[in-house]
Amino acid sequence: MMHTLQVLAFSFSNLLITKSSIKMNIGWIGLGTMGVPMATQLLKAGYQLTVYNRSEGKASVLEASGATVAASPQSLIEKTDVVIVMVTDDQAIRAVFEGENGLLNASTSGRTIINMSTVSPAISKEMSEKCKTIGFEYLDAPVSGSVKQAETSQLAIMVGGDQTVFDSVKPILETMGKMAVLVGAVGAGNYAKLAINSLLALYTQGLAETILFANQNGVRSEDLLNLINNAAISNVFTKIKGDAILNDNFQPAFTLKNIVKDLRLAKDDGLESPLAKTALASFEQAEESYGNEDLIAIIKALK
Ligand code: NAP
Repeated sequence: MMHTLQVLAFSFSNLLITKSSIKMNIGWIGLGTMGVPMATQLLKAGYQLTVYNRSEGKASVLEASGATVAASPQSLIEKTDVVIVMVTDDQAIRAVFEGENGLLNASTSGRTIINMSTVSPAISKEMSEKCKTIGFEYLDAPVSGSVKQAETSQLAIMVGGDQTVFDSVKPILETMGKMAVLVGAVGAGNYAKLAINSLLALYTQGLAETILFANQNGVRSEDLLNLINNAAISNVFTKIKGDAILNDNFQPAFTLKNIVKDLRLAKDDGLESPLAKTALASFEQAEESYGNEDLIAIIKALK
């Protein structure tokens, strides 16, 4: 009797191990600044990956590392269990979901779509409803962190959607981030992200103004940043963006035009505080000259 129980327990635990180690087939849409390093982490973890990008050619890096390339979002979702979308904005989401050969044209069901782009809560709610009617699950799961965090799986991921769906894909999210947290129903991840990026805009504007004020009064940027980075107000942001300012390096990790997009989305959802309004006006003005540079290029516009 004891022996039979032991054998049963062993078989059951083996079954669990086997089940949990089966890797889902993942589809990835959007191979931009963030998409490439994030998708690469999934490949490194052993997931089978099929990728699609609007502009051809950007998929070649992933293809060389073992990914399969799909010709459209529709053909990609037909071959995969879970589809991750990492594109620019609401317009891009519409194109990926509803465009010709978009995700919603697929003749299949039972898929989970994770939208990791920073977009409006409204478009997440709309796409979630549309997904439901054809038997797809939808989560919004935007990320905090930039290229460096994406390359080292250190993103913070905030998720909106159903608990069971979240639990089913949590291991995938944790392959790309140091944490993945369910913060509410569909759209809640997008709200959390817009809140965080509003603070990012205020930090950026504040750091630039502070350095310029010091410079105007004869204090060198390197001395001021050395003080800031050893003071109680120091943080990862002042270190990374401080270095960028000192090295005159405005290569985009996160573009200035993307922070304008996010401040506008936050405004549409009711963020109209004096600081948020000032930051939006300031970044909008800078966008004309520096939109494709990193957001810390605001310092050049303020100068
Ligand atoms: P990116 O480098 O500009 O890449 C954007 C991606 O979206 C590209 O693959 C682009 O395809 C695709 N795309 C744009 N419009 C499209 C359309 N109409 N149809 C299909 N695909 C379209 O942007 P990113 O920096 O990777 O950012 C992606 C998202 O993550 C954004 O929502 C951003 O706000 C957010 N985010 C970025 C950072 C960061 O530090 N960069 C950090 C956190 C969150 P093409 O190659 O064809 O242009």
